[in-house]
Amino acid sequence: MSELESLYQVQQLDTRIFELRGRLEDNPLKEELERLRGEEAECAEELSRVEEALEKSSRKQAALEDEIRSLDQKLSREEGKLYGGQVTNPKELRGLQAEVRSLKRKKDELETELLEEMEGQDGVRARLEELRSKDRELLALIEEKSALLERETGETASELAELEREREKWSSGVGEELMRLYEKLLAAKQNLAVVKVIEGVCQGCRVELPGKEYDRFLRTEGVFRCSNCGRILVR
Ligand SMILES: [Zn+2]
Repeated sequence: MSELESLYQVQQLDTRIFELRGRLEDNPLKEELERLRGEEAECAEELSRVEEALEKSSRKQAALEDEIRSLDQKLSREEGKLYGGQVTNPKELRGLQAEVRSLKRKKDELETELLEEMEGQDGVRARLEELRSKDRELLALIEEKSALLERETGETASELAELEREREKWSSGVGEELMRLYEKLLAAKQNLAVVKVIEGVCQGCRVELPGKEYDRFLRTEGVFRCSNCGRILVR
């Protein structure tokens, strides 16, 4: 295997190595995971807001129930006095009647308020369930995608290690001077320094070699560079 043929193998491997390194950096799963984590954080935040609202409403419900209970006790006390026969003074009786009416009205108001509060809770509970199941789904998805990313990263990393070992093997067949030129060109020419010439066309810049230059290229055994793009040409 000639030095140039070995260099061409190194280039082939490098092309693959660059591609894999790029894939490690820009795995679309990373972006997807970031989006999912953001969505989950929003969901969890809303979830805690809704839980808080439900707790607040439950506390209000309990307070209303308390109030209604003590109102009931007061009502039965007043009704007891009104119908018990101990109070006979008409003025006092009228006062008691008014008190009972007012207590009943107040009780009605509180019961309406209680009913509304409990009806409101139905909607909040439904939203809570919805959010809980959405959050569970998001967390499961995050776990799944993280595992996938980890697996892909691991696979790419071991493939890279394998390619780098192989590159080492091929590059040992390339002289230091040519390797330096190769590395320099690689940096200057978008990671493509060694290319084939197919039907007289440089596969790096896609420009056809002029007739005489092509003839010289076919006769040259050593390093030959494209007069247009400067890349190293191989047959
Ligand atoms: Zn070229």
